[in-house]
Order: sequence, then structure tokens, then C-alpha cells
Amino acid sequence: MKIELRRRVNGRFTLVRAVILSCLVSSLIAAEASAQFGVPFAKYRTFETPHFVVTFEIGLEDYAQRAATRAEAAHELLMRAYGSTPGGKVRLVIVDQGDVFNGAATPSPTNRIVAFAHTPIEGELFYTDDPIELLVTHELAHIFHLDEARRGWSVLRHVFGRSELTFPHLFDGSSLIEGLATFYESRLTEGGRVRGVRFPETLRAAVLETNGPKLDEAESDPGAWPIDRHYVFGSLFLDHVADRYGSETPPAWMARRAGSFTSILSRGAAVGELFGGKSLSEEWKDWIASERADALRLRDRLRAESPGLAETVRMCDVAHFTAFPRVSPDGSRIAFLATDEGRRPLGLYVADLPACDARRIARVNSQHAFSWSPDGRFVVFAQLDLVDNAREFGDLYRIEIVSGATRRMTRSARLTSPDVHPDGQRIVAVQYDGDRSRLVTVDVDSGRIAPLTAFSSTIAWGPARWSPDGTRLAAVRFTRGSSLDLVLLSADGQLLQSLTDDRALEGVPEWDASAPAGTRRLFFSSDRTGVRELYCLELDGDANPRLFLVARVATGVHEVAVIPTKRDSGHTGASADVSRRTSIAAIVTHADGRHLERFETDRENWIAATASDSEYAQRRISAEVLPVQEELTTKSYAPARDLLPTGWSPVFETVEELGPFAGAATSGVDVIGRHAWQANAAYGPGGRTIGSASYAYRRFPHAALFGQIASTWRLEQRIDSDVGELLLLERKQSAAVGVAFPWETWRRRTVFSANIEIEDRFRELSGDIPAVSAADPVRQDPTLVGGGVGVSFGNAQAGLRSISVQDGVRMSASIDYLQASADDRWRSGWELAGSVYRSFPSWTDSGRPVLAVTARIAEQRGPAASRLTAGGVGTTSILDGSNSDFEVRGYPAGFVAASALWGARSELRLPIARVSRGLGALPLYLRGLSGSWFIDSAAAASRADRLGSPQLLSTGAELSSDVTLFSFVPLRVRTGVGVPLKSLGPVTRGDARLYVTAGTSF
Ligand SMILES: [Zn+2]
Repeated sequence: MKIELRRRVNGRFTLVRAVILSCLVSSLIAAEASAQFGVPFAKYRTFETPHFVVTFEIGLEDYAQRAATRAEAAHELLMRAYGSTPGGKVRLVIVDQGDVFNGAATPSPTNRIVAFAHTPIEGELFYTDDPIELLVTHELAHIFHLDEARRGWSVLRHVFGRSELTFPHLFDGSSLIEGLATFYESRLTEGGRVRGVRFPETLRAAVLETNGPKLDEAESDPGAWPIDRHYVFGSLFLDHVADRYGSETPPAWMARRAGSFTSILSRGAAVGELFGGKSLSEEWKDWIASERADALRLRDRLRAESPGLAETVRMCDVAHFTAFPRVSPDGSRIAFLATDEGRRPLGLYVADLPACDARRIARVNSQHAFSWSPDGRFVVFAQLDLVDNAREFGDLYRIEIVSGATRRMTRSARLTSPDVHPDGQRIVAVQYDGDRSRLVTVDVDSGRIAPLTAFSSTIAWGPARWSPDGTRLAAVRFTRGSSLDLVLLSADGQLLQSLTDDRALEGVPEWDASAPAGTRRLFFSSDRTGVRELYCLELDGDANPRLFLVARVATGVHEVAVIPTKRDSGHTGASADVSRRTSIAAIVTHADGRHLERFETDRENWIAATASDSEYAQRRISAEVLPVQEELTTKSYAPARDLLPTGWSPVFETVEELGPFAGAATSGVDVIGRHAWQANAAYGPGGRTIGSASYAYRRFPHAALFGQIASTWRLEQRIDSDVGELLLLERKQSAAVGVAFPWETWRRRTVFSANIEIEDRFRELSGDIPAVSAADPVRQDPTLVGGGVGVSFGNAQAGLRSISVQDGVRMSASIDYLQASADDRWRSGWELAGSVYRSFPSWTDSGRPVLAVTARIAEQRGPAASRLTAGGVGTTSILDGSNSDFEVRGYPAGFVAASALWGARSELRLPIARVSRGLGALPLYLRGLSGSWFIDSAAAASRADRLGSPQLLSTGAELSSDVTLFSFVPLRVRTGVGVPLKSLGPVTRGDARLYVTAGTSF
């Protein structure tokens, strides 16, 4: 019990929500952190609009108002565009989840949207006039789409209510689900990702550098690139369909799918004549072919036009999530963020130039711009961490390059994107407060924070960089409703000059320290022409800005760093050349990831920048969003109406010898996730019932309360005699209440828990009547009352392409004691377990080899104790109903039973292949294959029944296939063979046993 109980309480809800949640952005690198949506312990208030019940965290009232206005506008537009409108009011929850931008939507148990209050203007930039408009439009499109049910599905909805599996569009696949929402976020607003350059450039890289993407390569796969490819390819395809066959075609296709059960079997179902008689696969192929032709034409045009295409060379041989290169002030080294080709969590890497043999210095939680110290001895970086088990706040850290020693500089200060002043005493950084951000300086010694700009609801600030002389700052500034620009500030934060003035997205600016005296030079990337290119802005002092197009790459240049050229002192000719030629390190998009590349530019070849594309031109839109209600009246948050059940699903269970039980299961959770409950009951032969109910209450950041009741039947014994068959049946009823104290950071999770429980067993005889009447009356045992405590800890980590958790430990300990209310019966159990994972350098980008070792000891004592079992493939088995406490592959399930057991196991896990392919439009996808060689052992630490003190020892090998069913059920299927190394009872040494099971072994 103990921790397991809480897991079970949680388990149901997390499973259900995982199936249906659809987010604004795939969680990308954050995938390893707990993907929590909502802060159940915050304080909320509520107001209603015509189509929404808005619940907002206190302090976010203005943001909630704006979100509600945008949501009502989006509702109006979607009603006209989509053709099916969800009934009832949509729940919209506005929460400060910390310094991240995301949102989620789910149609079950009611139509709900969670929106994070944040304005994203560093790292991943969103092309939009107002991020909350993009977010609510995207999430509301999910609600319109996922809520839809027609014909047979509508009948199911009437019967089962909003139970998870009455939503036909759940089977559309990730690329249609995210594609449709991203398509509408772009069609129904002035921004959106179909319009910005990142999605088109990602597709361009794929069609220019590979034969794909094929239809199945549009499905979500965290091991593939791009990680958000279901958003990218899905939305661009629907945009193409809408352009070619009319904007009513995507919703018409969806309406047909919503009324067809064949949607379950194929993502291409119900296309009919909508694509001019072509199937989904044919239309996809034609689209990719025309995209490839367009991309080749564009590349030829860019090559022919000045300044041509840059000749780039790969640096450091790193790809995947490479970001934010920065060269040390003396030009001798380069630092950047990368993921070891996806095989490890994000980390900071440093390499000498020009050799570029990258060394991993530290793990880093999240991607932000960072900075070298002026002396090049350390790097100051920012990363997010969980502050109260739910919110992710950014803080500054400093790491010594030589030793790797890391020191945290701030705590819960909500700071990111630091840049160290040339004097080494001050750091400029972005500071967040909900959806607002400002620039601040942080004193290196004291950590004191002083504002440079103000918090404002109209202007948000992004990364800033000190000029080489330390007197100026170049900064990214977002003006809601109008533009994202670079501006020049004085060292005390006064605005001196707007450097760009349009809706294009400018990247983090990089000063050129080698610019001639009197001239300031800033390099940055911008998508102002529809391709992300490198620009340079030259200033005479603070005045006379001149913008040049410096270099182009057909697939887009992202963050850039200037590599200083070594000055040859006393040689004037060389020095003039130096100020003309510049070496640039840049992140470039490719089909297999973002690479670090370098190229040379010559000042003579720069061309004066032309005006921005009309798409990106400045729009003088009023930033004012009219409030949805003039005088907002809010009420205190009341969870009751969202806790009522909205649907049910059938439950079937067979109890050995008793026969089938049938019943129903239902559940509820309020919109902020504070109250969650589930209940199920089933009725079986002889009027017997089984069932359970549980409830969890998450009102506090560091404590969750839970309670559970359950009643089950089982066959305890079967006795065959002359008078017939006699069955001894046992009904167990139990109740438990407890509390769990979780303490989570990005990398560690610790949970203490305690519970009190009551357990009652009732025995009865069944079977042939003569046998029952001849039997002695059954002895009944008194009720047991007691409790237990437990603790668990884990810090294992994984990269997006890891085959297993790696480089960390998991430990747990628990103990419980129950005493009979009437006599001196009792039982007590304790358990200790620990696992260690260690990974090694790999020859393939399909993961790192991992050595995993685990050991566990447990004991059940007392007259009322039950036995522990060992042998078989453990409790994760799906294809075999067996159940064993100690897994020892190669022996039959539950082969040994004893009151005390210990086990030790080791596995060498090896990556085999990253397949990342599916079967066309069919809902089956293979992510990758890995293998393992194992040794399992378990032994009874006390005398076991019949077998003395038996020892089990086996070895064997497994092939793990990571598959995804219906694009929302990830599953590891393990096929293995176990060979016993010790003969015991009926098992002979060397007698191999084959098995198929699911899940991971440990
Ligand atoms: Zn989404």
C-alpha cells in the first residue's frame, strides 16, 4: 500500500488526461520534467462570458479578461469556420505555471482549456500579435474538433456520456489533431505558425535533404526530428488542402470522420471525393512533390540573388537540439547547448576553436541564451526549476569551465537569458511576473536585482546584450498588438533608438567587438523576407542605423555568434582586412536537427536590406482589447459542478471460479485539478459485488490527501472430495486514508507518505451442496487496523532518444503494521528497494547503452500475513494474467512463495535502431528497437513452503519494440527468453521459457 495507493489514485487520472490532452506546443525538451498542467493549490476566482466559464488565478485578472475576449472572438470565428459547435460552456483556466508558455485542451470530462499566463519572447518565438490570442484560438480549435461526434459516435456519446472513448477525433492521429488546431490558429488570426517562417523552413529542410516526409513521418515521435513534426507537417498539409480544395474541405473531412467507425483504423478514412478523387496518401505525395519543387526553385533563386547562399561548414559535429552558440571573449572557445544527438538531457558544451572537440560541462534544464564571464573562466546561464511541485521559475547559475563546479546565484527570482557586463560586476537578465517581463540587472557579488525597464501589459522584454564598451544594451522588445523589435538602450535602460520596426521576429542580437572605432555593429537573424536570414545593423555611435542583409541559408539561420579574428598587431593591411571579414557561428536548420555551422562574410558583399515583406510590415493595430465585461464581477471558485460524472465506461472482470462480473466505472476532476475521484462497481454471480472508489485532494503544494475503499472477491482454496467440489471464497474489504508529501525538482522526486488502513476479510463456502453441508463452519478472522509509512526517491534521467532511464538512482522503503481489533492476530510488512542506472558512450544516435542494476528485499510477518512470490515476468505482463512480487524470468510465475524474499537483477540494455516509421495511414507506428541481456535472481530469506530455502537464478535476452498505437498509446513490447540456471522442483536448469510482455522491467 502506501505509495502504491497514491499512485493508483493518481494513475487513473493521469492516464485519462494523457490520452486526451492536446497542447499548444509539444513539450519538447521539457518532456522529462513532470508535464503538469495547472496549479491545484493556487487561489482562483471565476467569471462567465457567453461561451466560457473562466477560472483564473488571483493576480491574473487582466490577463484573464484579455484571454476571455480573445476566446469569445475565436469562438465566433470557429463557429463559422468549423461547422460543428460544442454544446455548453467551455471551461477556460488561466494559471501562472511559471516562466513557460503552453496550454492544453481536453473534451473530457467537460470541454476544458488550460492557458499559461506567459509572453514568449526568448527562445521559441511565436509569430503573433498577441500570444494569448494564438493560444486560446489553438486550444479552442482542439475543443471544436475533439468534441465533434456524429451518427454512430453520437449514439455512443448518448449512451456512455463523455467517457474517454466516445471521441472519434481522438483516432485522427497526432498530425491531424495538432495540425488542425495550428491551421486554425493561423487562418483565424493575423499570426500563427503556418504563416511564420519556422514551420515552412522545417518542411523545406525535409524536402530538400530527404525523400520525405512520408505520411507516417508526420506522426508524433519524440525520437524523430523535428520533435514537433506533427504540428509542422500536419498544419502545412491542411493549409495546402484548404488552398487547393477550399477552406471548407478540412472541416468537411472532419465531419465525415466524426460519423465513421473506420476512422479508428485509418487516418485516411472518409476522404471520399474531397481531394479530387485522390486518397490521403496520394494527396500527401503530390503535395510533398510540389513542396519539393517550390523549395528547389526558392533555393535556386536565393543562390542567384545577392548575397547568394552562404557556404557553411559543420562545427563540432553536433546536431539535434543545438542552440545558442557563444564564443569566449578571447575567441579561443565556443560554448553551446546540445543534447548529445538526443541521447542525453540538454547540456552545456564547451569546445576549443577551431578544433571543436566538444566537452559536456553540465546538464541544463532548459534552453535560454547564456553568457561568458569577461575573463572566460565561467559561464552564467539560466534554467527553470520547479519551485512548489508545479511552477517552473527561471534562475541564474554560474559554472566554472575548468572544474564544472556550479553555483546557484538566485532563488525563485524568475530570471532568464543573462548577459554579463564587460566589467564582470553586473548581469542583465529578463525577469518575469506572470505574463509580463522586464529587464533587470543582477549584481554578481550580492545578487541584488535592480529594474532597467518597467513591467507593462503592453510591452514585454526579451534577451538583451551589453555592447563591447558596456555603455549600451541591444534588446528584444515585444509590443502587444504591433511588433517584435530590436531596440538600443542606454546602460540604465533608457530607450535610445528603435533598431527594427516590423512584425518580423528578430533573434537574440550579437555585438561585433571587432567593429572599427566609432562604429557599432549588431548581428541578428530575422525572418523579415519570409526566410530566416542573417542581418547586420551598423550605427555611427547611437545614430544613423544602416541595415544590411549579410548571409542566407535556404533552410534558415538561427542564433548567431561572432568568432573574433586574431588581430595581427603592427600589420596595417591585415587589420583592414580583419574589419571587413567576419566569421560567424550559427545554428542552422536541417532535416535531422539543428546543426552548429560556421561561415565567413565579407563586408563588401553585404547588401542594403530591402523593406520587410508585406506580411511582416508594421501594423498600427490598437493594442487595446476591449474587455468582455465592462465591470468584471467575479465569484469565488466553486468546484462542485465540474466534479459531477459526465460519462461512464463498462467494466468487466472475471474472478476465478466465480465467473464474470459486469458493471460501470466513472470519475470526476475539477478544472484546476484540486479534487479528483473515481469509482467503479461490478455485479456478479450469487449477488456478489466488487468495486472501489478513491479520492485525492491537492489543496496544498507539498501535501496531497487521499482516501480509498475497495471490496474484492477471490478464490482462496478449492477442495475436491467424494461429496463434490468445495470452494473457499474470501471477500476482502479495505479502506485507507493517508497523506503524501511530494518534493519535486526538475531532476529529483522525493515522496514521503503515511496512511492508516482498515482491512476486513470474510470467508464463505460455495460449491456442491453436499460438500458445503459436510464441511466444518468457516473460521472468520477479526478486522485488522493499522497503518504504514513509506518514502521514495528518484533522479534517473533520459534523453529524447534514450532507450531506458539512465544515470541515476531510484530508491524506496516502506513499512506497515496492522493489528486485529479482537484477538492477537497481526501482520506487518517492510520493503527496501534500490536501482542504479549508468549509461555509456554510444556508436549510434538511437540511444546510449545502459547498465541497470536493482536489488530488493521484502518481508511479510505475523499470523495474518500473506506470502510474497517470486518467478515469472512480474506484474507488468499483459499477455499473461500472472502476477509475481519478484520477477525472475525463466521460471513460472509465482513459482516460489515465502514470507521473506530478496532479489537482485542486472540488465545490459543496448540500442539497436531508431526506426521512426509507421504503416502509412494505419494507426501503428514503430519508434525503435533495443535489446537487453539480463541476469535475474531471487531467494527466500526465510523457509518457504515445500521447497526449503530456494534460490532462483536465470539469464536471458530480450528484444524491446517501442510502438505507438493510434498515435496516443505508447507501449514497449518485450519479447524474451529466460533460461533457469538452477534446477528447482519441476524446473530444470537450461529449460528456456519464451515470453511476451509490456512495459519496462525496472
Ligand atoms: Zn495543440
